[in-house]
Amino acid sequence: MGGGEEITTRNRMLPVPNSTASYWRNDAHWLDEYRSTEQLPSQADIVIIGTGIAGVSTAYHLQDRAGNRDTLQPTILLLEARQVCSGATGRNGGHIKKLPSTIDVLIQNYGITAAGEIVKFIRANIYGVKSVIEKEKIDAEAELRRSFDVSIDTEDAKEVKRKFEEQFKSGFPLTEDVAYIGRSLRSITSIHDAKAGLSTPVLSLWPYKFVTQLLERVLSKGHVNLQTNTAVTAIETHGDDGGYTVNTSRGQVKTPTVIFATNGYTAGLLPQYRNIITPTKATASHITVPPGQHAPYLSNTYNLRYAPNRVDYLNPRPDGSIVVGGGKWTYEKDRELWYDVHDDSTLIEPARYYFDGLMQRHFRGWEDSNAETESVWTGIQGVTKDGLPHIGKVPGTSGQYVLAGYNGGGMALAFMAALAVARMVRDQISFEQTGVPMCMKTTQARLNGGDEKTEKQP
Ligand SMILES: Cc1cc2nc3c(=O)[nH]c(=O)nc-3n(C[C@H](O)[C@H](O)[C@H](O)COP(=O)(O)OP(=O)(O)OC[C@H]3O[C@@H](n4cnc5c(N)ncnc54)[C@H](O)[C@@H]3O)c2cc1C
Repeated sequence: MGGGEEITTRNRMLPVPNSTASYWRNDAHWLDEYRSTEQLPSQADIVIIGTGIAGVSTAYHLQDRAGNRDTLQPTILLLEARQVCSGATGRNGGHIKKLPSTIDVLIQNYGITAAGEIVKFIRANIYGVKSVIEKEKIDAEAELRRSFDVSIDTEDAKEVKRKFEEQFKSGFPLTEDVAYIGRSLRSITSIHDAKAGLSTPVLSLWPYKFVTQLLERVLSKGHVNLQTNTAVTAIETHGDDGGYTVNTSRGQVKTPTVIFATNGYTAGLLPQYRNIITPTKATASHITVPPGQHAPYLSNTYNLRYAPNRVDYLNPRPDGSIVVGGGKWTYEKDRELWYDVHDDSTLIEPARYYFDGLMQRHFRGWEDSNAETESVWTGIQGVTKDGLPHIGKVPGTSGQYVLAGYNGGGMALAFMAALAVARMVRDQISFEQTGVPMCMKTTQARLNGGDEKTEKQP
């Protein structure tokens, strides 16, 4: 062991067992606790850590890049500490969208050019996931719909309208599929006290079904070995050949290339990301209408803005039930409950009953529905210092790559981030050639710190 890449952190920030039960994971896929081989392989060309949307998409793109060149196929080992897709991807809102009401924050923070690149990148993710679902015939209840960002507060509504008009006038390039809902706002959105509304494209889907079925396609090609319930505890650098030893709870693996698709848990293995990608705990719920009761079907998804920093998200399911997440302001001041927390085995107490009655309070026709919270769960996000993900080669390493730190919006970023990393590894192209916005490149300067931006969903 030696070299500048030695990782000393051991057994810190590992995914905990007994995570809260998320609605999306109720019906386990046959791969949930699968191991391709009884024993852990002793070596692999590429080791990917993490089986959320980032890790599985990376494996998919790595194979896709290889075409039919059977003899050139690298061996890929996919390691997962718990079950497949049991991290944030198995516990989120099931939404792939750009919040139009936050574009102004991007412009303020990164300038109009970078903001435009970020919005384009998110759009590429929406259509990238849609197209792979169609190509691979994945049944993930995916639907391209419209999503409404609805302001309930009068002052917030005025600001949302003013900023949208400003963007429009300034020629911000990406307003063509976003619209301000002028007339009949309450009828169109079905929200009682709606004061302003923006409408934008969204891909609504069942994230666990997407990831597990994509993984099924990946494994069917025979070059990827999946090992669940196998926690990576440390990575060591070999002295001479620049390769790595990946230490796991079940033994060691040697490899020249390690890809960290570990999102909120990244700093547990890469200490240079400590305080750069911070684990934060968030919560979501599943709301159902009891048998015999009735509530109107909602065909759009939502972000409900009670104030600029009080936002919930809602994703109606085809069966009429609703996945709702948020409620952060009920616990935000108690930082120890959620900030720098990687334990998703418990609920966030102040938000435990937050979702009760939410549909009755806000949605037309739901007042007497007796809708009830069927389940509440938590998950771990990765929040970064500057509000942007870290994608690319880990600075100062020969063969370590990262894609993580999505600030609660990874469904809208990870699929194309995975394509970029796969191309860097397989085709040996530079980050600059991938087309990912430059501001998302992981660099030493970003690891050294820089201005802390407010936490936000990109
Ligand atoms: C409640 C909630 C709601 C959200 N809502 C939305 C939304 O509506 N839209 C949106 O875009 N995003 C949303 N997000 C964020 C989104 O879910 C994440 O950004 C995205 O899923 C990250 O994907 P990932 O694959 O990078 O990480 P994850 O899905 O967290 O996967 C990382 C995997 O790595 C594994 N792992 C970590 N460390 C190790 C180790 N040492 N050894 C082995 N395995 C390890 C973990 O077990 C995990 O399976 C939400 C998140 C939460 C928690």
